[in-house]
Parts: sequence; C-alpha cells; structure tokens
Amino acid sequence: MNEQGLPENEIFSYLENVKSEDTDYYRVLSSMCTHPHKIAVEAHRLFIEANLGDLGLFAGAHRLEREVIGMLGELLHAQSVEIPSGESCEKSVCGYLTTGGTESNIQAVRGMKNLVTMGRKMPGEILNIVIPESAHFSFDKVANMMGIEVKRALLDSEFKVDIASVESLIDANTIGLVGIAGNTEFGQVDPIEELAKLALENELFLHIDAAFGGFVIPFLENPHSFDFKVPGVTSIAIDPHKMGLSTIPSGALLFRSPSFLDSLKVNTPYLTTKAQFTLTGTRSGASAAATYAVMKHLGREGYRKNVQYCMQLTAKLVKEARELSFKPLIEPVMNVVALRVPSPDLVREQLLKKYSWNVSITRNPRALRLVLMPHNTERDVEEFLQDLKKVTAEL
Ligand code: PLP
Repeated sequence: MNEQGLPENEIFSYLENVKSEDTDYYRVLSSMCTHPHKIAVEAHRLFIEANLGDLGLFAGAHRLEREVIGMLGELLHAQSVEIPSGESCEKSVCGYLTTGGTESNIQAVRGMKNLVTMGRKMPGEILNIVIPESAHFSFDKVANMMGIEVKRALLDSEFKVDIASVESLIDANTIGLVGIAGNTEFGQVDPIEELAKLALENELFLHIDAAFGGFVIPFLENPHSFDFKVPGVTSIAIDPHKMGLSTIPSGALLFRSPSFLDSLKVNTPYLTTKAQFTLTGTRSGASAAATYAVMKHLGREGYRKNVQYCMQLTAKLVKEARELSFKPLIEPVMNVVALRVPSPDLVREQLLKKYSWNVSITRNPRALRLVLMPHNTERDVEEFLQDLKKVTAEL
C-alpha cells in the first residue's frame, strides 16, 4: 500500500482504464448475468452501506429483504408460515437473500444435513444426496465441504435427469434429491413432479435449483411445474442477479418449512439480533434494495416482456442456425441453446480470437453453448451466425 494517499482523479483515471478490460456484454453469449436494470443500480447506491448481517441496525433494508422474499414466495407459490422473530412470531415466507445460486445450493444441502443429523449420532455413516449429472459445479463445492457424498444421476436423451437412474442411486443414507429448473448448459428443466413423487415416497428432501430458470419459467407461455405448488419440493434457489435484472450479488433461497431455517441457526451474542441462519455474516442490504426496486418496477408484465424478448432471439438463432445446417441438441426450453458444430472447442477459440465472440461449451456432448440475454440483439444473432459460418468453413 502506498504511504501517502493519491488524488481522486489519479485513482479514477486508473479505475477507468482497468474497467475498459471488463466486458460491457458486447458479443457475450456465454453469461447468465447481464446489465442490471437502471432502477436496481440506483436503489443499490441508496442502500450502499446497509448490512443485513446486523439486522437491528438496518431495519429498513431488512424490511426490503422480507418484502423481496414475500414477492419471490408469491412467484414460486410458497405459503406464508409462522416464523419465530425475536420474542414474537411473524407470518412470512421462509427464506433469505443469498449471494447467488452457489450459496443457496450449499445452504439448502446444509439444511437437509442438519435436519437429518440434529441430535443424532451417525457413526460411520456417510450421508448422500442424488443430483442430476447436469448440476452446476456449485455441487462440487457442496461435496467438498459438507462431508456428504454427492451421487450423480444419468440424463435422458433430452438432458433431463433420468428418474430410473435417480431411483437406482437412492439408498438408506440418502437424505435428499436435487432437481434443476433451467440447467446451466442446456436450459433444460428436470421432471420435477416425478422427482417430487420419488422424494415423498422415500421421505427425502427435494431442493430445486432454479437459479437461472426462476425468473424465466414463470414467464414462459407454457410454464413447467417446478415450484412449491408441487408437493414434495422443500427448497428453491432463485437468482435475481441473473434473469431478475438485479445487481450482483443477489440470490435467494426459499424453504417450504421454517424448520430448515431453524436448523441453520447460529447464535450471534454481540449483534442486535440473537441469531443468524445465513452462510455469510455481513450481507449486502444494497442487493435487497436493488431487487425490491426492479421487481416492483417491472412487475410480472415487465419480466414477461423480458423473457419474451430473449425467447424471440433464441427462436431466431435456432431457425437461422438450422438454415446453415447447425442443429440444436434439443429444442430450447428457455433462452439457452446448445448447438452442434464440428470441433466445438476450436470453433469457440476462433470465434473469440477472430470476431470477439464469447461463447462456451457444454461438457457432454461437447457443443457450443449460447445464452441469449437481454443485452443481446437481433443483429448480434445475425452477425454471430455469419461469423460461425466463416469459422467452420475455414476449419
Ligand atoms: N445453479 C445454476 C443452475 C446456475 O446456472 C448457476 C450459475 O450459472 C448457479 C447455480 C450458481 O450461481 P452463482 O454463480 O450466482 O453462485
């Protein structure tokens, strides 16, 4: 660190220089995040110092967090339940704002584990959960930190989890299942109702990772069943900082029952509140304000338009790619396309090197993975396909 402070203009001139190395989402077809809505940015600024780690000092930001959880609960058909709050009980949807899908997935599994092991000694038993092979790599972190085995079920030909494979992996030490509503690579939705049936039959928890799909599926013309309306779904991850157009970090984790929150509780003796059930201590109140503002401002109608726009771009891309003989692995369910191209890794490299396109690759099978986000345009789609045609012709 320098001994003497530098003048503001010098620092900002450096920062602006460095910022030019960051993407402004031009030619980005690989990200599930996008520009936050203007109103979210303004609200974020207004609450920049709010710390949801110490709720008593930031009652306003906490109120916004509760209101956001209430709105998300309504979107995901969660019931309000009695939750102990200090000395009293408040009727509310169970959940809290996280830093994103990773934290939500970790906490959902931690809750399952705590509920199962609470007060019980389980010598020598390694508990396990069953997740789809398509699950996000946040579950590798779960496996690494939680001391439980993460079993991966096979996918069917449509990249949905195969129910027979899930069933075959369930054993006496299985505590929960995971279903994905909008998987990262294919945008596919697992058969949540069938998973829920399995979960109920085997008395297992069922966590739904809707980090991406949570702000897409409810606004599609024919939405899949994936939320608390399905009996057996016990928790859901949904990320406002993806298709919710809020600022980073904005995730959310909702539970069907308050026992989950209770199982995550840690006493906080020197704070204004007695306990915390979050993973992180200090938490951004600015994110709560940003998410509140954008959800209120857009309403269902605004999000429906946002999803319609992305789905139109997706349909255009698939139709015009087919005209060039590039077929999608599946008919897109949401605004994610996995496109079959020859030598996808090489194509990806060349697209970036020659034409500055950021695309990614699915793991199995390898295909170009394209996410059509609000920052993309029809022109992007047209130019991208022209460049893809040139790159593949040169191979
Ligand atoms: N779950 C799914 C389905 C995702 O697509 C992602 C990220 O893309 C995550 C979880 C992790 O979210 P985050 O990066 O916000 O922690």
